[in-house]
Amino acid sequence: MEPLGIYLHVPFCTAKCPYCDFYSLGTQAMTDAEEVMDAYVDAMLRELAQWGQRLECRQADTVYFGGGTPLLLGSRRISRLLQGVRAAFALTQQAEITLEANPATALAQEFSRLHEAGVNRLSFGLQSSCEEELRLLGRRHTAQQAAQCVLDAQAAGFTNLSLDLMLGLPGQSEQTIADSIAFCSSLNVPHISAYLLKVEPGTPFQQQGIQALCPDEDTQADWYLLAVQSLARHGYRQYEISNFSRSPETQSRHNLKYWRCQEYLGLGPSAHSFLNGSRMYYPRDLDSFLTGAGSPGYLPVPDGEGGGFEEAVLLGLRLNEGISLRELGARFPQADCAQLARRATPLRRAGLLEEGEDRLALTPRGFLLSNSIITKLLYGV
Ligand code: SF4
Repeated sequence: MEPLGIYLHVPFCTAKCPYCDFYSLGTQAMTDAEEVMDAYVDAMLRELAQWGQRLECRQADTVYFGGGTPLLLGSRRISRLLQGVRAAFALTQQAEITLEANPATALAQEFSRLHEAGVNRLSFGLQSSCEEELRLLGRRHTAQQAAQCVLDAQAAGFTNLSLDLMLGLPGQSEQTIADSIAFCSSLNVPHISAYLLKVEPGTPFQQQGIQALCPDEDTQADWYLLAVQSLARHGYRQYEISNFSRSPETQSRHNLKYWRCQEYLGLGPSAHSFLNGSRMYYPRDLDSFLTGAGSPGYLPVPDGEGGGFEEAVLLGLRLNEGISLRELGARFPQADCAQLARRATPLRRAGLLEEGEDRLALTPRGFLLSNSIITKLLYGV
């Protein structure tokens, strides 16, 4: 049995960013934030213990603290949570343990404590090195503060660091994108995630009509390709639609599990899991998690089957390595892989799929049209 990935969703941020629709609550507006965070950690420890029993202390080789802003919990609470993970699961010696952080404040001592507790990878939401873009996004840090955070983390012993960038912003330009990438590179960070801004329903960005100010689809596509090239020039090789790494060792091992349809257990409000061929999730509701966590009858909501043929194609094509038709045929003997190969031929000629007999992999231009290419491959339309 393959080792499991464990995701812990930490639903707290200082305040909500206007573009974000992840489930998180602003602690600034709470009068009892410290108590609520303590209660959340206690609930998570109960839930971890419950799942440790259910899965018979199964082996796990990645832990990911996502959110939200997990760093808000502070090193003491994060350390308790990690002890809970270790008590409930057999965590491998070389497990990748990632924590997402907002680079709003430099916390040199906190980074040292986190490193001692076993966290070995930090992912910072930088988004841009351009102050105007940071202001537009409602970020509460400057580029200089973010740089200081990275330096503090490195001084505390972290080498496996990642920075998030955002593309397709109103007022952004090819120059500011190139500047942000050069900024990350100068900090000697081995991993970058670059996402196109998506204006999500119900967010302040949508209510303010920000979409109308965003560059059109063609410009976004040009900027994405430019970013891929610029990242490559700085030594960041693309390994997934939005992810780039300076070496295979610094690719996100936890996130690779999602795209390779491997099993992961997600705990906490809004967290998703894929276990035993089934998908499930916790409702976006902290209160129900606080009251339900740890009791045998409290279970995530079933979300259908997962890991089938279509999903393997859909998720596998997000990766640069793509999918092997031979491996796919061995995993799904009833699937018509020959038909997939036939449908791939014109897409290869159009430069949307890489050349190769066995492997189906999107080119950077193909990544931009991934949804329609996958529909064409799977359904011929
Ligand atoms: S800090 Fe991250 S998770 Fe929190 S509101 Fe902003 S974008 Fe969302």
